[in-house]
Amino acid sequence: MYNLRLLRNLLPSTGHAHPRWLASQHKRRPQPGSLPPDRLEQLRSDLFERRQELSGAEWAEVRQSLVDGYKHINGHNVDAVILGVCSGPSQLALAKNYVEFLRSRGSKPNAATLGRLLRVYNAAYHERPLSEAEQAEILQICQSLQAEHETLDATSCENVIHGLVATSGDDWHRGLPLLEMMKVTSAPSVAAYSALAEKAFNVETPDQQLAWRLLEEMATARKPPKCEVYLALLNRLANETAQLPAQLSRLLHFLERHEVLVSQRVAVRLQELSSQVPHLLEARATNLGALGKCQSCQQHLQPVAISDDEFRRLSECFLERVLIRRDVFQRSTPEEVARFKRFVEKTAPYDCVIDGLNVAYSTGTKKTPQQLAKLVATVVRHFRDQDKRVLVLGREHMRNWSKQAMHYVHSNASLFLTNNLSHDDPFLLYATLRSGQETDFFSRDLMRTHAFHLGPELKPVFRRWQQEHQFSLVTQTQTGQIIVKEPIRHRLCVHKVADTWHVPYCEQYTLHPTDSFEVPANWLCLKLNQQTGATKAKGKTRR
Ligand SMILES: [Zn+2]
Repeated sequence: MYNLRLLRNLLPSTGHAHPRWLASQHKRRPQPGSLPPDRLEQLRSDLFERRQELSGAEWAEVRQSLVDGYKHINGHNVDAVILGVCSGPSQLALAKNYVEFLRSRGSKPNAATLGRLLRVYNAAYHERPLSEAEQAEILQICQSLQAEHETLDATSCENVIHGLVATSGDDWHRGLPLLEMMKVTSAPSVAAYSALAEKAFNVETPDQQLAWRLLEEMATARKPPKCEVYLALLNRLANETAQLPAQLSRLLHFLERHEVLVSQRVAVRLQELSSQVPHLLEARATNLGALGKCQSCQQHLQPVAISDDEFRRLSECFLERVLIRRDVFQRSTPEEVARFKRFVEKTAPYDCVIDGLNVAYSTGTKKTPQQLAKLVATVVRHFRDQDKRVLVLGREHMRNWSKQAMHYVHSNASLFLTNNLSHDDPFLLYATLRSGQETDFFSRDLMRTHAFHLGPELKPVFRRWQQEHQFSLVTQTQTGQIIVKEPIRHRLCVHKVADTWHVPYCEQYTLHPTDSFEVPANWLCLKLNQQTGATKAKGKTRR
């Protein structure tokens, strides 16, 4: 099936009897639609990274062996797959060599293939300035793609944007309508947003207004901006120090408002910046001691607790949505909601509201009803032992669980059972907020949708309230004891204590950061100094 002889010649002497990147291919068949990274990675390292060009015969062989070797690779997508594999910044020559090969045999590279080529140009652009000729090639590809299709699909838009930003003139502005075009079919990707925002900070006359608008749009859509955007801003500020205090302060407030965690790369750049302009910025790596004490400045991080006024606004807004807009209890009948409200009026306030079903299933779903009920009872006992008044929310079908354990729950807590189809979290939030500012709740649910529906102003308030009041079950030991995760009482995102910023950071950028409340291991203790007259002059000479 594979022509191993030719491929063997193709590969530099690796000492293997046959190409490593094809070895054992017969054992595991890759799922359609997903690239098998191990084999293709070997193609990259064994062949593409060692060569600047391949002969026509070699390309033909690589192409054919991929089509033959992988179920999901076919004549239509193989060219894009090959360019996806030679996508590193130093592989531009090889990628172009492949496209020339395609043209030499009379085939026209499709949009996906040309789009991938634009990404390779972009990767090279991040390593070195592109030549005039290379930039002209990019513009020519972008033009031909746009000329052929009146509306480009989202992926092509993203690729063209990556091509345009790699050129040095004003052409990158043409990426903005493409971002709008992407909105027709889906939300623009982080990569597309980030490429444009990075460029807006990078260009000689930066378009800061645009860059910040894109950052805001991204963060609002829960798309964490890529590190390159922040690095572009920080690199600019390193040369334009007069702007540093205002722009850095804007960045820190942005990170705080959207609870965005930067990566180590950005944290390192901030530290470099501080050694470059120590009169403007002091940034030290720090750890947190017990109770959130910064080991660098010895201050305690801000408590996460919200003010009385914030709590009032939060609960009013939530209750208004319950009473007036009625979009909270979507899966429940009006009768059930009315019955629940009467129940709460009669039995509230509580110290802790427990999501019974969430607790029952939090250590695994393959449990007997007896085990499930016992777990709920153990959590109730945990709070009853502290003399807490408890409400347990559950579903009708829990009536059939272990009689003994459910009897314990019934006699030691208020118990409200909803219809089996209802969502429990609206009930949980209603009862908790209705009980007052001191009331906690017990659930693993991250409450994302509820936070989102409260709108941009109240969402951070809700998140802080949630962090302060949410308990959850970590695990149950062999002996049946439970380990409960208690709320962390200090803030976990970027914020200011007195005049010092504390900036948590993660090791690597992640597209989907968790919404759970974990204390980041790494922090910067950061002080922004306002410029005095003398330092202002100094800042100017640095340009
Ligand atoms: Zn500190």
